Parts: sequence; structure tokens; C-alpha cells
Amino acid sequence: MISIVTPVYNEEDNIVFFYDAVTQVMKNTSYDYELLFVNDGSRDKTEMLINQLAQKDSHVRALTFARNFGHQIAITCGMDMACGDAVITMDGDMQHPPELIPVLLEKWREGFDIVQTVRTATEDAGFIKRMTSSGYYAFINSISKTPIVPGGSDFRLMDKKAIQVFRRFREHSRFIRGIVGGMGFKQTTIEFEAPKRHAGVSKFSMKKMLHFAMDGVITNSTIPLHLAFYIGILA
Ligand code: UDP
Ligand code: MG
Repeated sequence: MISIVTPVYNEEDNIVFFYDAVTQVMKNTSYDYELLFVNDGSRDKTEMLINQLAQKDSHVRALTFARNFGHQIAITCGMDMACGDAVITMDGDMQHPPELIPVLLEKWREGFDIVQTVRTATEDAGFIKRMTSSGYYAFINSISKTPIVPGGSDFRLMDKKAIQVFRRFREHSRFIRGIVGGMGFKQTTIEFEAPKRHAGVSKFSMKKMLHFAMDGVITNSTIPLHLAFYIGILA
């Protein structure tokens, strides 16, 4: 059985479209599956829609947070609750194309434990976002002892045994790409071009993005801690 974990935050105009697309793709594979929506404290109709889907289709499971905890925590919750032999995490706005699911499954069948996708381009990312993103990955890889795939997204497949190891990482401020990059296992990458969102706008405000980038740095390297110590001594 395959688990598909999807964090959703105010995605009322995407839920049903995404559900239809994933359902169509999964029905064409030979695998049984569950689609696990983690509603990250949405204030629109997201909760009602995922509950309705769960009621009418036994493949769907719906979880709702009491408030917004952020994308990384929502994904983590879904990975904790998933029952599959492989778990695929993907966004619910169609920027992680469901047509790629069979490609991830194929790599898994070939024997890879972690199949990481890499965005080669994002249709709605401007020049500044692309430059800051590539600069960020160069920086974080220069201070981190474990590799983080540049342009890596949280669209990935993990085998059950990798999921079991991942579940032992319990820090609240987290950068899942960094944890997975440092986990070992037989990993491979697949490139894809991220299309525009199907509907709505990005749920990542500048503030959320900066926090996320900062979490990446402070959870993947001890250099900031050392720096703080030396600056403190000097001061
Ligand atoms: N998301 C979430 N909690 C948040 C922000 C985003 O669960 O606080 C979800 C969102 O609904 C989407 C996925 O995470 O399914 C990626 O978010 P988004 O598309 O806004 O990010 P972007 O693609 O712009 O980086
Ligand atoms: Mg998106």
C-alpha cells in the first residue's frame, strides 16, 4: 500500500481538483493507496471538503490541526500517521505534478529507499526567488556536514524503513530536506519542472520563508552556535 501525504492550508479551490488528479493516477497503478490530507489550521472550506472526501471515498483520510503549525510540521504529522509501505509527500496545489507519482514508484521498485525530486524551474518563480534559492543552497551546503540537494522539494518518496528512521527525529523547528539528506539509505533524484499553482496564491509569506530558511541553517550546522559563542566572548 502506498501513502500520499498532502499538507493543505486554505486550499479550498484545489482540494477536489487535486483529489481527482491523484485518484486517476493511482487507479492506473497496481497499488492500493491512501491519500492523507493534513489540514494545517485552514480558515476556509478546506476542512469541510477533506472530511466530505474521506466520507465518500475510503482511500481518503482527513486530519485537521487546531491551528496553523506550518508546512513542515503538517508533512511530519502525515508521515507519522501514514500506513503505507512507501510514503509520498506532495503539495496540494498541483505544483508537484501527480503524473510523476508512477515515476517515483518505478524508482522505488528498482530498489531506491528515498526518491527525491528536484525542481529545474518553477513557472511562477521570479528571477529573485531563483537567485536567492541557488545562493541559499550553496551557502547551506558549505556549512552543513550532510548534503542537501539544491532545489530539492518536499515532493519525495520514502520507503517504510526510511520513514521509521525519520520518525525518530522529533525537533519542532525542522528542515525536512536537511534531515532526509543526512539520513543515508539508497537515494536517487528525479528532475521536474514545477507548473503554476492550480488556484490561489502561495501560502508562504516572506516571514514564513525567512523562518524556514533560518531553520535550515540552524538545524543543519553548528557553525551559527559557534559564531554566537565567539561573538559573545568577544563582546
Ligand atoms: N502549506 C501548509 N501550511 C502552511 C503553508 C503551506 O500546509 O503554513 C501547504 C500548502 O497548502 C501547499 C503546500 O504546503 O499544499 C505548499 O505551500 P505553497 O504552495 O503555498 O508554497 P510554494 O509552492 O509557494 O512554495
Ligand atoms: Mg505551491
